[in-house]
Amino acid sequence: MFDNLSDKLDKAFHILKGHGKITEVNVAETLKEVRRALLDADVNFKIAKDFTTRVKEKAIGQDVLTTLQPGQLLVKLVKDELTELMGGDVAGINLSGNPTVILMSGLQGSGKTTFSGKLANYLLTKKNKKPLLVACDIYRPAAIQQLYVVGDSIGVEVYSEPENKNPVEIAQNAIKHAKANGFNVVIVDTAGRLAVDAAMMDEIARVHKAIQPQETLFVVDAMTGQDAVNTAKAFNDILNFDGVILTKLDGDTRGGAALSIKTVVNKPIKFVGTGEKMDAIDVFYPIRMAERILGMGDVVSLVERAQEQFDEEEARKIQKKIAKNEFGFDDFLSQIQQVKKMGNMKDLVGMIPGASKAMKDVEIEDDAFKHIEAIIHSMTPIERSKPALIDVKRKARIAKGSGTKIEQVNQLMKQFEQMSKMMKMMQGPGGKNLMKMMGG
Ligand code: GDP
Repeated sequence: MFDNLSDKLDKAFHILKGHGKITEVNVAETLKEVRRALLDADVNFKIAKDFTTRVKEKAIGQDVLTTLQPGQLLVKLVKDELTELMGGDVAGINLSGNPTVILMSGLQGSGKTTFSGKLANYLLTKKNKKPLLVACDIYRPAAIQQLYVVGDSIGVEVYSEPENKNPVEIAQNAIKHAKANGFNVVIVDTAGRLAVDAAMMDEIARVHKAIQPQETLFVVDAMTGQDAVNTAKAFNDILNFDGVILTKLDGDTRGGAALSIKTVVNKPIKFVGTGEKMDAIDVFYPIRMAERILGMGDVVSLVERAQEQFDEEEARKIQKKIAKNEFGFDDFLSQIQQVKKMGNMKDLVGMIPGASKAMKDVEIEDDAFKHIEAIIHSMTPIERSKPALIDVKRKARIAKGSGTKIEQVNQLMKQFEQMSKMMKMMQGPGGKNLMKMMGG
């Protein structure tokens, strides 16, 4: 996420590291590089200029040069400004209605339908809500079909009226249907166009007026940079929306949209989309994003994700097995499944402080565990529960069966052994100290 920007900012701060004594000149030089980094990330010129001016003023105000660690203080000032630029505090979603009506707006292809599904899934699984998805695109039957596919995949009902050509009526009827059937959130997916046009704006404005949503969300593709900001402005002028959803942040986005939108429309980014799957949705925390951009990682999110996936029952079972020396490959496999549920590897690595930079040139596959899983699946049940049985002959068979090389099987066996040993150590008499050392 925003790798290029992170890289350039890191280089900007490097200027300060090369000097024994930090002077006004090299602070100015650093800030100039920071500005250039922002411009390269497709941040609007005025926003970038104001940004560095503010940092400079604060640096002078706080007497950066006389502090013990001027470099660190400057990084902190930049972090604070980046946080402000992206909205400051985290913005929640208003779920006060009965039912709560959420209207989705945005151009075609921005990720509206996908996000409607993700939001429904989030509200269903994390907020205990009963959402209803509404298909209001009267122009493209495929769009209605797409919403049904999405709804099916997450077990959420979809409301549509394929014969009705009046989106205002469809939305109103959907709300009636929700009230009559106990749905407490109604998510209305609307028709988009390839570019802003008067007919589309008029249509969504009429739907907006008729259903008076608690939340009007504007969905925009982060990859489109400055265009995203212009589109946001056009939609905001008509709808005065409540929040922005930035999608496709998992792609090669430069960051311009995330960094400029708040200043231009004065509306917060509420969620981000980080993939095509239904669980690739994150609440947007400006400070966490600023820290990630500055290579400080995002340990808070990482721990939260681990906690979400943590299954106490499963952990206790594993603990018992380790104590009895019964930890096998089936357990290993189930641990992998848990890690996988936390998100894609690239994303997780980005949350570890410093790791993004250190692993910049390492190609991380989307499915980093593919080979390991294939190897384990090629073992017989008895081999999985008693790994000691796996001799050279069996290894050759497993390699063949999983389409891997024998070295890969060896490597996995070794990793497994080390991991079992370490887990055993953690449980042994010295384990408590070890846990303490690790901050547990
Ligand atoms: P709509 O026309 O606004 O409803 O857009 P869609 O929901 O159909 O999305 C357009 C394309 O973008 C689809 O291929 C989606 O799978 C993809 N997409 C949506 N959100 C994301 C995201 O967060 N990351 C990635 N990589 N792709 C996404």
